[in-house]
Amino acid sequence: MRPERRGKGNGSSGPEASEGKKKGQIMTDLPERISVREVGPRDGLQNEDPVPTRAKIELIDRLSKTGVRRIEAVSFVRPEAIPQMADADEVWRGIQRAPSVRYSALVPNLRGAHRALERGLAEIEAVVSASDTHNRKNVNRSTEESLDDIAMIIDEAHRRGAACQVIVSTAWGCPYEGDVPVQRVAGVASRAVADGADSISFGDTTGMATPRRVRELAGAFRSAHPEVPLNLHFHNTRGTGLANVLAALELGVSDFDASVGGLGGCPYAPGATGNIATEELVHMVEDMGVATGIDLDAVIDAAADAERIIGRTLPSQVLRAGPRTRTIPA
Ligand code: ZN
Repeated sequence: MRPERRGKGNGSSGPEASEGKKKGQIMTDLPERISVREVGPRDGLQNEDPVPTRAKIELIDRLSKTGVRRIEAVSFVRPEAIPQMADADEVWRGIQRAPSVRYSALVPNLRGAHRALERGLAEIEAVVSASDTHNRKNVNRSTEESLDDIAMIIDEAHRRGAACQVIVSTAWGCPYEGDVPVQRVAGVASRAVADGADSISFGDTTGMATPRRVRELAGAFRSAHPEVPLNLHFHNTRGTGLANVLAALELGVSDFDASVGGLGGCPYAPGATGNIATEELVHMVEDMGVATGIDLDAVIDAAADAERIIGRTLPSQVLRAGPRTRTIPA
């Protein structure tokens, strides 16, 4: 069974978004709204020192009340491989699932997919690296072999009535190989689409994307598969995170990952910043007339919480400075 999301994206409005606007308003083809996936609890915390289970549950519950509609909550990986995610079962059992939120789990293989599906996850994410070297370092298999596994994961998800997103990591470059050609990345994504992926996400694993490269890759994918929802996952490792979002918005992309406070890091560059910060994304696009459904103050509060949990200063600038209209007593 395939959930009927095809052709609609997760919250996009498409080119018709600019219709019906008042005369004198600046013409824009930007989506009317975007769908943000909060990945702080998974991608963020996976790249931080381990935190207590209780704190994770509280963070997810808090995020569930910000208006965000998608949360990447956990990953079902071997505890020996990633100790930060060893308590995935407890976290998943402990959170209060909000009916308005779609929770997802990242799975590394078929075994992980079974675990997630048995626990009632309706959305799983399977990941493959566009770079062969990166994929081999991660899972000791070639990209092609991983794609074979992912075809089985997709089938299994569909058999259980769940959706499967295929994440193509190192989509804008690899720490071992350098640039990864657009054609190669697009080819990996096309194979996943052919195997039934419900959506594709391109991950900028080490923050190598720039607006020009976002246009090249997202443009190529959108032309090849206009009916397949595309999600983009940027890291702000080199400061181009929000510029990349803007370039993608101009192409009509409307699904983005972000992490509260900018939680996380880069596994290949100790001390580097992590995902783009959710509150910075919301702050920027809402001012452009692009709705997120997310309450900015609520997500800033959640970011302050995340900072307390982690015990270090998080990189989000909106967390530091507050919304642009914040005033001080004259
Ligand atoms: Zn990431």
